[in-house]
Amino acid sequence: MTSAAPVSEQAGLSPAAAAERLRRDGPNRLPPPSRPHPLLVFGGQLVHFFALMLWAAAVLAVIAGMPALAIAIAVVVLLNGAFSFAQEYRADRAAERLRDLLPLRATVRRGGRVSVVDAVELVVGDLVLLEAGDRICADATLQDGGGVAVDQSLLTGESLPARLDGGDPVLAGTYVTEGHAAALVTATGADTRLAGIAAITEQARRPRSPLAKQLHRVVRIVALIAVVVGVLFFLASLGLGQSGTDSLLFAIGVTVALVPEGLLPTVTLSLARAAQKMAARRALVRRLESVETLGATTFICTDKTGTLTRNEMSVVTVWTPHGDVRVEGEGYLPEGTLQGAPAAVAAATALADSAARCSPDARVAERSGRWMPVGDPMEAALHVLAARAGVPERPGVVRRFPFDPRRRRSSVLDRDGVHVTGAPDSVLPRCPGDLTAAEQAVTALSERGLRVLAVARRAAPTAPVSADDAERDLELLGLVGLQDPPRADVAGAIRACRTAGIRLAMVTGDHPRTAAAIAAQVGLLGPRRLVVEGRDLPADDTALADLLETDGVVVARVAPEEKLRIARVLQARGHVVAMTGDGVNDGPALRAADIGVAMGASGSDVAREAADVVLLDDRFSTIVAAVELGSATFANIRRFLTYHLTDNVAELVPFAVWALSGGQIPLAITVLQVLAIDIGTDLLPALALGAEPPNPRTMRGPARTGNLIDGRLLRRAFAVLGPAEAAFAMLAFLLVLFSGGWSWGAPVDAGLLATASGTAFTAIVLGQLGNALSCRSESRWIGRTGLRGNPLLWYAVAVELALLPVFLLLPPLPELLGGDLPSPLGWVLAMATVPVVWLADTLHKALRARGPKTPGAWTPGSARQRGSATTVVSGTGARQPGGSAEGT
Ligand code: ADP
Ligand code: MG
Repeated sequence: MTSAAPVSEQAGLSPAAAAERLRRDGPNRLPPPSRPHPLLVFGGQLVHFFALMLWAAAVLAVIAGMPALAIAIAVVVLLNGAFSFAQEYRADRAAERLRDLLPLRATVRRGGRVSVVDAVELVVGDLVLLEAGDRICADATLQDGGGVAVDQSLLTGESLPARLDGGDPVLAGTYVTEGHAAALVTATGADTRLAGIAAITEQARRPRSPLAKQLHRVVRIVALIAVVVGVLFFLASLGLGQSGTDSLLFAIGVTVALVPEGLLPTVTLSLARAAQKMAARRALVRRLESVETLGATTFICTDKTGTLTRNEMSVVTVWTPHGDVRVEGEGYLPEGTLQGAPAAVAAATALADSAARCSPDARVAERSGRWMPVGDPMEAALHVLAARAGVPERPGVVRRFPFDPRRRRSSVLDRDGVHVTGAPDSVLPRCPGDLTAAEQAVTALSERGLRVLAVARRAAPTAPVSADDAERDLELLGLVGLQDPPRADVAGAIRACRTAGIRLAMVTGDHPRTAAAIAAQVGLLGPRRLVVEGRDLPADDTALADLLETDGVVVARVAPEEKLRIARVLQARGHVVAMTGDGVNDGPALRAADIGVAMGASGSDVAREAADVVLLDDRFSTIVAAVELGSATFANIRRFLTYHLTDNVAELVPFAVWALSGGQIPLAITVLQVLAIDIGTDLLPALALGAEPPNPRTMRGPARTGNLIDGRLLRRAFAVLGPAEAAFAMLAFLLVLFSGGWSWGAPVDAGLLATASGTAFTAIVLGQLGNALSCRSESRWIGRTGLRGNPLLWYAVAVELALLPVFLLLPPLPELLGGDLPSPLGWVLAMATVPVVWLADTLHKALRARGPKTPGAWTPGSARQRGSATTVVSGTGARQPGGSAEGT
């Protein structure tokens, strides 16, 4: 190959050759994981814990001589299995589509030109350019002239990065953590080592997510309770002198009534659907349960560039020791002029030359009539400056020390010496001489909200060995002031956060004054205008947490370790923290945060890999939209949980009444009726509740706290809605019996029992209809939620109502289920269950609204209070930009 030439001069494959090889070898993609056969998956649905319980019940029913019941239970297991299978299948597909949305890119040199291609287009022989933060997309051999540190933990389990030099192999799936290098691709796609390993690991089962674990635990506990209660009632019933068959029937009924069959798949599907909606809003969740965590977010730490601002950089002014220069021109358009005194313009031209050389990977390109940045937008802006100053492009990089957020500088060695750009506070100390004027200029420029970059250079007689060696004894050429206007929608998104009780902090590597100016422009900066530099953060964790909780604090010149600490102390305060990051070193902070947010458009692969959410468009408002969808989903899951648990009570009570009355009161509903409700009429309304669209109140404080299933939910289902529905169904049942001439304890005529039983059944089905509408809101009564907003629920209710006469009339169902058409009185009573459930719900909501606030939930008001109490404490570390005492 061409490896004899110095790396910087290798041209790489010609585009035509690359296209040819791509056709020959196929795309650089891992072979798709082999999926278990759908039949196997379906089979799995028939043998999990619940299914096994139900099978056991069916066997018992056969033993007890009730084949109809046994068949019915079997049908239930099959139907439920099919339903769960379909939901999980859809959830899986949704997750898969999400993965495909995040493209991986690689920088290659082809035909002498550097370009960014989709990683699937890499071919053997391609010259890829790697730098810190990149994920290596194919197996390759490092070329001479660059050393890198590579994190190979994915393949080797070794957690410390390995130092590699020219000639060493690098493997697909590993990450460059330091340095930069060119590498020649040796294997792609299925030929990579990663493909071999992926094939092995794929056989290992995916670990369950915390949310899934929590749900499984809940469901298992409920199932166990069901079994225990069933057994207890079986014994009690035997003790009361019931026949073995009756007792068994009874135990099965109780158990089946309590088992929440459809719960898990409904939750999963709900999360998957939310994840899809988030993707449509340009937020990509990498794990389904992040949807739920997102909804719980109480604190967002956001960076500035690209997230709050547009990341459309343009140099508007240049300061040089010989005077100021105004730069004129449109966006990234290379045409423009430099205005100022001739000496200043000359100095600015020299500065522009060095600055452009320092950013060899960036440039601007015209795409469909618009000039766009390629590579880092800020570095592209430096090229625009050079073009406007009339500086020709000068290739010939000998060595490069790219930007890293700890050094906050980048430098390039070429035949004319070292060129350095970087944050002023990191570059100025390396320029000997009097810097008073430069320092004043930094202050003046950053106060205007401009991002300031210092440019310096030095003639280098010998090639420097390290960044530190290169970037010393510099001659300051001047300062560049870059404008990066805030995004238009940020102010609104910040207001939405504040109303939702979500607190904010800006955590940025930029200069404190620039950061403060932008924070003030978008309304993020709190009334106390606290701006702290990373190194001045209070050493004490409590003081730091107090400071951050003030809301609207700006932390500038932050180092990655400080970001990690910020996430940790906020979590220790009980916050659910979302933290943005884009750099190589942000990985730990992103992983530590409850929600790590990485940028899809800019940002490194390392950050994206560590993140829970990737913002495809880098926008702050996208985070807020995702939080909103997350909390809407959380609310939806609670809606259908409440709905499900309520009917459990209504189904259980008739059995309890029968047992506790020693059989004097006949069984109001049969086991098969319970199943008809669980699997028949209840199914669609539960699904529809899971699809309730987010309402404007979702983001109106206080932020939610705690678990999916908490005391409030359980109280509502088990102490309010459930009992109301159950009591009224029992009442209807008894009144129909009495009106038919039945008296206490007397044997009941079979026809009468069927009518009464049909009445109880109808009452529960209609009660569930009222329940579904009540469950649309946790706090507002039905008159305030209104009837519109969730058309799906109406379809579900229509199906529910249509199923009712089927169960009551269509032979052989009435006989099988044991319920006939209710009498006229029965109809009236059954229909009254709807308003009764509403009434109970409304009273409960009204009482709760007047009662004390739920403990543990904090409101924006209480947050502010807590914040102001800490003024004194935070004074230890907080200081105004530039060290002045007050105000910016
Ligand atoms: P932000 O939070 O705004 O994204 P960064 O950590 O990216 O901040 O940058 C911090 C500072 O480092 C910037 O204000 C700038 O002065 C300097 N800087 C950023 N990118 C580069 C670069 N590519 N080359 C040189 N200096 C840079
Ligand atoms: Mg940045």
